[in-house]
Amino acid sequence: DLIIKMDPEMDSQLKIGFIGAGNMAYGIAKGILSGNILAENIQVSAPSVRNLGRFQELGVAVTHSNIEVVCGSDVVFLAVKPHLIPPVLNEIAQHITDRHIVVSVAAGITLATLEELLPENTVTVRLMPNLPCMVQEGALVFARGSHAKEEDGALLRSLLHHCGLVEEGPEAWIDIHTGLSGSGVAFVYLFAEALAEGAVKMGMPSSLAHSIASQTVLGAGRLMRDTGKHPAQLRSEVCTPGGTTIYGLHMLEQGGEHASCPSAWSHSFKTKKTHH
Ligand code: NAP
Repeated sequence: DLIIKMDPEMDSQLKIGFIGAGNMAYGIAKGILSGNILAENIQVSAPSVRNLGRFQELGVAVTHSNIEVVCGSDVVFLAVKPHLIPPVLNEIAQHITDRHIVVSVAAGITLATLEELLPENTVTVRLMPNLPCMVQEGALVFARGSHAKEEDGALLRSLLHHCGLVEEGPEAWIDIHTGLSGSGVAFVYLFAEALAEGAVKMGMPSSLAHSIASQTVLGAGRLMRDTGKHPAQLRSEVCTPGGTTIYGLHMLEQGGEHASCPSAWSHSFKTKKTHH
């Protein structure tokens, strides 16, 4: 078992389970499947059939039994809503053994809570992913519980690296990351929506405006990631003295966007910018 856990080449033999078949489980499963894990090594459980169809389309085994998933897996992702973590752990706890790594993605559920509700010495990890895992562009941060070793972290990293950027840190970073990247995605969408709406208001067809807004967000993100430059530097590189961009940025800042307030962001774009 230990050999399997330490050798990334052996990842393909790992059995992966998801308890909960919602958006996050689906996003992680899609990311994992783009690596060297075979669909036949993944199982997912949920009480209704509602979300199971799309897993079946991926070739993943589906069941209504959480215990079946636990018994057939080495790595178990807990992907139910946070309030359901205690009853689910209560249900599966007696089937957790020392071969398992239990990975919770539930927002706000601490490692201490997981450890308290699981048998002594259970290897636990708290993971905060985000939805772009689905297209292998997620941003994931995890923290190891007190019984999770470095090699467990390495295993998880190699398992998840097809989901996007994977970083390990202290547990305090998980909540920070939830705002930065979990909710951050929604903040970026609000901005993209405002960008596109501005273009529609000026006369561009909506579908083209949205596709250009998404490409703009993607391009800006890739440039920031690939160059490693500070966003302020990249911003200044786009600004010709006396040009339209510096003028637009000034208007956005007057609208309060710089204070990390997305509603002001969108408002300033939609109202102030279109006054010109
Ligand atoms: P979701 O789409 O509502 O999915 C929840 C899933 O849990 C559903 O498939 C549901 O079954 C299943 N479920 C309910 N009760 C269950 C039980 N007793 N046993 C097994 N499965 C059960 O939720 P989500 O957005 O994927 O979120 C799941 C977790 O991920 C949450 O804890 C959230 O904090 C965390 N998270 C989400 C995001 C995000 O962007 N969505 C980001 C980071 C973390 P049915 O299919 O039958 O309804």
